Amino acid sequence: MLYSPLYRKFLFPFYDRVIKRRNIYNYYRQISPRAWLPLEELRRLQQEKLRRLVAYSARQVPFYERLFAGKGIDIDRVDSIDILRKAGISLTKEMVRAAGDDLLSREFDKARLHSNATSGSTGDPVTCYMTYDNWCMKVAGKKRTEDWVGKPVGTRTTMIWGHKSRPSLRMRMKYALYWKFQNYQFLSAFNIGEESLLDYVEKIKRHRSRFIESYVTVVYLMAQAIVKHRVTPPRLDGILIGAERLFDFQKERIEDAFQCPVFNRYGSSEFMSIASECKEQQGLHINVDNLWVEVVDDQDRPVVGEPGHIVITDLENKALPFIRYRIGDLGIMSAESCSCGRTFPLLQDVVGRAADTFKTEDGREIHEMFFIWKLDRMPGVRKFQVVQKSLKEAQVNVEEDGTLSREKISAFIVEKLEELTSQGVSISVNYLDQIPLTKVGKMKFFISEISRS
Ligand SMILES: [Zn+2]
Repeated sequence: MLYSPLYRKFLFPFYDRVIKRRNIYNYYRQISPRAWLPLEELRRLQQEKLRRLVAYSARQVPFYERLFAGKGIDIDRVDSIDILRKAGISLTKEMVRAAGDDLLSREFDKARLHSNATSGSTGDPVTCYMTYDNWCMKVAGKKRTEDWVGKPVGTRTTMIWGHKSRPSLRMRMKYALYWKFQNYQFLSAFNIGEESLLDYVEKIKRHRSRFIESYVTVVYLMAQAIVKHRVTPPRLDGILIGAERLFDFQKERIEDAFQCPVFNRYGSSEFMSIASECKEQQGLHINVDNLWVEVVDDQDRPVVGEPGHIVITDLENKALPFIRYRIGDLGIMSAESCSCGRTFPLLQDVVGRAADTFKTEDGREIHEMFFIWKLDRMPGVRKFQVVQKSLKEAQVNVEEDGTLSREKISAFIVEKLEELTSQGVSISVNYLDQIPLTKVGKMKFFISEISRS
């Protein structure tokens, strides 16, 4: 296995600095040690970066020019996020969409910026912009977090992910070479069934990957196929997942089948890597050197140890400054520090998209987690999915495992969802051979078909 150290020590720095003339490697070297800085030093770094970001945005970004002036902010003295919070400053996806180019800095030419659309899980994607240099720093940040789980740059890895539909042959060859150069094997997460998952297991073994990177659903389905067909799992050091919430029952089953740890990560298109687990798995270390992450209650007050809305300030993105951005996820801020010794604070959990709720006639919203708590590990059921058809109708899609009669399963579901029936919601159970995944291979436990207001 000589390629990994060769790639890490020579090929990667050479490719990055000399051939691509970019800064990923330099940033990676520069920011990696920060995870051990004393907390006070990190706070000072954040404060200084925030002060500069606000002063810059107030002068270069039309949206903030107006916003800060309207709120009477002393733009050269904002060294704490509390000042902005108390002034009632926050940014939502709707505001980002409405502001359009007013949120972009005058300093940069939009056409030359790196752009990234958020996934449209809530229907309306937001396009975010960053400078190429800032993108390099974000990629470096992601590489740093992979070190935390014992996956240094160049580690043999299989990535199972979505991709752009039908690239040309030339592009396909280019990608294939690029992945191979990085010591990666790329497999498509599109249209996966049991047969292709078992085929993937063999491909992972042949590739001698030490890690898998994929969506939760993909590895979860693969774990089920491994158990069902009694296949020997590949010998892995770990599985890195992202882009979907990882539930405890999934983590347990994946770890059982693959006999290796599953590492949780939290990221988004706007910020790329936000927080990641280390080997100790006591929470997700937040990249606080570049992001100021808050968890707040409905009244915008900070909360620790209980779920709240995640609010993020990107301290490095000057092209499109995200200042107190309500990303739409719920999370729990931890008061504990990690035994690994890294000082980056921990998110105890990321609970899920705040937008995914079941709405009732009297205006209540039931978080999708409710359905997991109620219906998980239900006898006779392999997979389930709750679909809100209207304010008065819910449909539960079920894939059976054949161990229980349909009458019993249906009765069980109706009984478990008493909280809905007591609100006058009727429940129908729909038996399917296969619950369809989303286009990119993700499983959704809850889908709302009523318009979001
Ligand atoms: Zn740690």
